Amino acid sequence: MSSVKLENLQKHYAQFHALKDINLTIDKGEFIVMVGPSGCGKSTLLKTIAGLETVTSGTLSIGGRDVTHEEPGDRGIAMVFQSYALYPHMTVAENMGFGLRMAKRPQAEIDAAVKRAAEILRITEQLDKRPRQLSGGQRQRVAIGRAITRSPEVFLFDEPLSNLDAALRTQMRVELSTLHARLGSTMIYVTHDQVEAMTMATRIVVLNKGEIEQVGSPLELYTNPKNLFVAGFLGAPRMNFFEGTIADISGNTVTTTIEGLPPVSLDGVDTQGLSPGDRITLGVRPEKLATGGGSSVTIPARIRLVEHLGRETVFYADASPLKTSGSDTGTENITVQLPQIVPFASDAAVTIGFEIPDAYLFGPDGRTLTA
Ligand code: ATP
Repeated sequence: MSSVKLENLQKHYAQFHALKDINLTIDKGEFIVMVGPSGCGKSTLLKTIAGLETVTSGTLSIGGRDVTHEEPGDRGIAMVFQSYALYPHMTVAENMGFGLRMAKRPQAEIDAAVKRAAEILRITEQLDKRPRQLSGGQRQRVAIGRAITRSPEVFLFDEPLSNLDAALRTQMRVELSTLHARLGSTMIYVTHDQVEAMTMATRIVVLNKGEIEQVGSPLELYTNPKNLFVAGFLGAPRMNFFEGTIADISGNTVTTTIEGLPPVSLDGVDTQGLSPGDRITLGVRPEKLATGGGSSVTIPARIRLVEHLGRETVFYADASPLKTSGSDTGTENITVQLPQIVPFASDAAVTIGFEIPDAYLFGPDGRTLTA
């Protein structure tokens, strides 16, 4: 049974088309993470599911029930916000029991639900405190606890960890995944954080300009991005993109002309509709680049900036005349990530290389052409 179903959902804010024909079926028990650049419509989508925004057209069902025009309180959802939204004058226990008290549940039931949620979230000691006496992480646990006590069909999270420091975010990430496994509830989570998306999601939804670009498991999206946008959006540091044209097509093999690179021939390409001369982009993830010259395709470059990150090295190099797109900062146009500490010096000459099966080919329309 599907837990949440969005059909042909559209949202207009006056002249602005914020959601364009969203279709998505979320199964019961899934942990869906929505990502996308700022302004792509993530929060709008979450708010329409919550009932905090009306939809312009389309249908929204939760648990097989059409809730498109229902009040937020009748939808069987609970939402956790970035800002916690706790009542300052109430104790932790009162905050957590608030939803049930509003629903006029018996006090014994409220107490039991609060006790259970507090145990799950390890905040039993804090139940008599007020929100201002808590740390950020404890406050966020209370906000999550308030959602848990209501036993919703669907949990909605709007960047719940973004106000926490890095260490606490990591800890809460693990706790949320554990919570999901324990409760088995459907969770829909909006974040800017790639690591949260990659580690917590059963499926990631990539949004761009009010449309869904791709839906799939984290690994699926990372290894088989459907297009240039998804390839560039997921992965940090970002995939390197080299701009060029098609020199030759033979069956399913495409040979490229890319200034600064030798001709690269890729097999298994979906060549339908392609012609020699078409613009293409070749993509290689930073961790698929190597140094030392032993690779099948090599690129001479000069190191501009080196970052040693404990157990890996990321360096940014100038590989002119190679033309790259997007993330160029000055002359650094290629990013390499090596799984060990390498004591490179800035300004040193380096040979960067990759293996052809590790490269992605994108067509003039951005579609991924390699399997
Ligand atoms: P961010 O990551 O920055 O929070 P988002 O993906 O959550 O962005 P939304 O908040 O959903 O983006 O906004 C999507 C688009 O709709 C934005 O361009 C925003 O300016 C616009 N928008 C949002 N709310 C309104 C509103 N009430 N009236 C008009 N436009 C709005």
